[in-house]
Amino acid sequence: MNNQLKNKLIKNDRDYVWHPFTQMKDYENQDHVLIEKAKGIYLYDADGNQYYDTVSSWWVNVHGHSHPRIRAAIDQQMSEMDHIMFSGFTHRPAVELSEKLVEITPDGLNKVFFSDNGSTAVEVALKMSFQYWLHLGKKSKNKFVYLDNSYHGDTIGAVSVGGVELFHSVFKPLLFQSYKVSSPNPYLWSKQHGLSEDEAVSQCLQEVRTLFEEKADEIAGFVIEPLVQAAGGMIVYPASYLIGLRQLCDEYDIHLIADEVAVGFGRTGRMFACNHADITPDLMCLSKGLTAGVMPLSVTLSTQKIYDAFYDEYETFKTFFHGHSFTGNPLACAVALENLRIFKDDKVIEKIQPITTYLQHRFREFEDLQHIGNIRGIGMIAAMDILEDKAKGISFASNKRTGYQVYLTGLKHGLIMRPLGDTIYVWLPLCATIQDIDHILKKAKDVLIELKLA
Ligand SMILES: *Cc1c(COP(=O)(O)O)cnc(C)c1O
Repeated sequence: MNNQLKNKLIKNDRDYVWHPFTQMKDYENQDHVLIEKAKGIYLYDADGNQYYDTVSSWWVNVHGHSHPRIRAAIDQQMSEMDHIMFSGFTHRPAVELSEKLVEITPDGLNKVFFSDNGSTAVEVALKMSFQYWLHLGKKSKNKFVYLDNSYHGDTIGAVSVGGVELFHSVFKPLLFQSYKVSSPNPYLWSKQHGLSEDEAVSQCLQEVRTLFEEKADEIAGFVIEPLVQAAGGMIVYPASYLIGLRQLCDEYDIHLIADEVAVGFGRTGRMFACNHADITPDLMCLSKGLTAGVMPLSVTLSTQKIYDAFYDEYETFKTFFHGHSFTGNPLACAVALENLRIFKDDKVIEKIQPITTYLQHRFREFEDLQHIGNIRGIGMIAAMDILEDKAKGISFASNKRTGYQVYLTGLKHGLIMRPLGDTIYVWLPLCATIQDIDHILKKAKDVLIELKLA
């Protein structure tokens, strides 16, 4: 891109654009990176600099950027139909996608409701769960339970079941009441209480049981990010917690709502994180990787039982009155279908197994660095914390913005490592190779050395 155009775009970005999750003043003396091209695991800026997209462009990209098959699917669909309304009308991409999703998701999820982002997929699940209990005459079941540090999106309903203080506390006056329980975060339970992973899980499940015992009459559902609490700091917890939670939800007649918006589609090394625990949630939310990270689309899958509670004569007013202008967008559905075909044709889940093992193994090496601790990960996700005092588990003062410094220095090394506070992590696309991992980790180490953190 020529300099004149580049400078104009950067200036107009400052003049006209308000970016998400961004203190705009941070960009007073620093430019947003102007990306011109994206291919495979790389992004390229307007000067032609190459960056490793180690966070899959906010956890969405799956098979690499600008995949030729995805592009062809968009072209093909566009030549037939762009967008039509989805009430009273239907179309091949949405029908075929629904059939496929029912086939590949855990047994018992039989119906697919479309929306267009992760937050709305969660809103839909909350509303369905609430209305289900209403139809059964259990009006008092109108509250939800969530984990400390959980993140389910930024719309008001999703924030009401969110547990990340930094993002959520300011909106408290707008939220509906929910119940928060402890996160089964193994690192925290070990550091603060000296508990093993198994002990932490059983303690956390006991806390859930106590709440259910007292409040089951008020509780519609428990919403959870299976295995990885992503935005809350890449907290990885054992599948045994999910197994126990499924049993408790059954015992107390409470919906288990699995928010697989981030972890779905192979990121944990299995197609869905719920597969690790071999459980079927009552409602399941998918987005991000659903379209290989290319188009905005989401779904909320439900069991037949939930669906049946809404199925009646119109006059009973059991309709689920919810929908979006772009529900079931044909282009997005066509892309999602092609995404699933790529998974199958390229045997993606099988192919990434040795890559995930290698990533987790290599990440352990950072344990030796002076200011790095709490290494954890699963599948294509791996994270570490920057700590001032590693032995005591004490972080740097937050005004030092150490993670942010790592990010800025990373950019100079051709690395996009967008931190969560002082947690730095990779969330790799499934196309990443052993060689990519070697390059990324070498660069990451160089960054930490440059900042005297290693
Ligand atoms: C990103 C995310 C969401 C929200 O999805 P959006 O498409 O950003 O609205 C919901 N739940 C989880 C677990 C997420 O990571």
